[in-house]
Amino acid sequence: MAVLVTGGLGYIGSHTVVELLNDGFEVVIVDDLSNSERFILKNIEEITGKKPFFYPFDLRRRELLTQVFDAHKIEGCINFAASKAVGESQLKPVDYYENNLFTLINILQEFKERGISNFIFSSSCTVYGQAEKMPIDENAPLKIPESVYGKTKQMGEEIITDFAKAYGRKISLLRYFNPIGAHPSGKLGELPMGIPNNLVPYVMQTAAGIRERLNIWGDDYDTEDGTPVRDYIYVVDLAKAHVSALKKLMQIGDETIIDIFNLGTGKGVSVLEVVKAFEIANDVKVPYQICARREGDITVAYANVDKAEKELHWKSETSLEESLKTVWKWQLYLDSQTV
Ligand code: UDP
Repeated sequence: MAVLVTGGLGYIGSHTVVELLNDGFEVVIVDDLSNSERFILKNIEEITGKKPFFYPFDLRRRELLTQVFDAHKIEGCINFAASKAVGESQLKPVDYYENNLFTLINILQEFKERGISNFIFSSSCTVYGQAEKMPIDENAPLKIPESVYGKTKQMGEEIITDFAKAYGRKISLLRYFNPIGAHPSGKLGELPMGIPNNLVPYVMQTAAGIRERLNIWGDDYDTEDGTPVRDYIYVVDLAKAHVSALKKLMQIGDETIIDIFNLGTGKGVSVLEVVKAFEIANDVKVPYQICARREGDITVAYANVDKAEKELHWKSETSLEESLKTVWKWQLYLDSQTV
């Protein structure tokens, strides 16, 4: 049976494709390469010794998507394809709504018309905003997200839930906390696209000398060391959760299923702790300076992962230090490619 992975050459998508192939699934990737490169496909093939099908096009082109569904017996989809830069989403809201929601609707139309079930959506803990209670479980109230990006995730969740209810389908909404790390082979990771916005890619580039120093956005938060706390989940562990979520849906009969899972480690880690762990794990220095707070940042977010452990038989296995070692390996690989 074939699984459609949209955005399958992206950061989390490519790691998930590897885990799906290792598990024996046939994989069909659609990715428009807007945030990736062809060599990622080659590396997936090297790592797994298998060849996924690959179609490079923009999923807003429904007629091309229809051809993919005609050509393969698709039995499920993991939908990663989306624009994800929070800052850019504020500047280009209409583009973000169009890209992130049209692609989703096009896939759901194919699912609806062909009677396909098993749809997995890549969502985010951003839907909780600053939650009142830690750790955050799946019943925590949703808040209107600050960014357009966050809103597209929340709207996506609603659209998919309505799809499941109306047509009796099985869906899973996976709310990621902060994915970090790279493949242990050093051949897959988050591709640098301009100045990084997220913490770990910025730390990586600072250690590599590409950036002079890390700006720490505030040390006056109400946390132990004053810097914000997040739940950093290793990308390969996260990828495995997708395979578990998909198998769970596939094993259940035909009734309507709306699964929601928080995916994290269950542990909160501060910005300064990440910097220290990176320095120790890789025996490098990360110069930093403390700056003013970044607008829209929350103080603390970490997951309650009981539901994922119980129902997906999944939990994060890789330590922060181990995952930060893979980040450095990925940086060295990128360096070797540009020489
Ligand atoms: N952060 C920072 N400097 C950076 C990037 C991020 O101090 O260059 C901090 C940010 O303020 C936040 C944490 O690192 O507290 C994680 O930020 P990221 O953007 O990676 O994830 P998110 O804020 O979406 O959880």
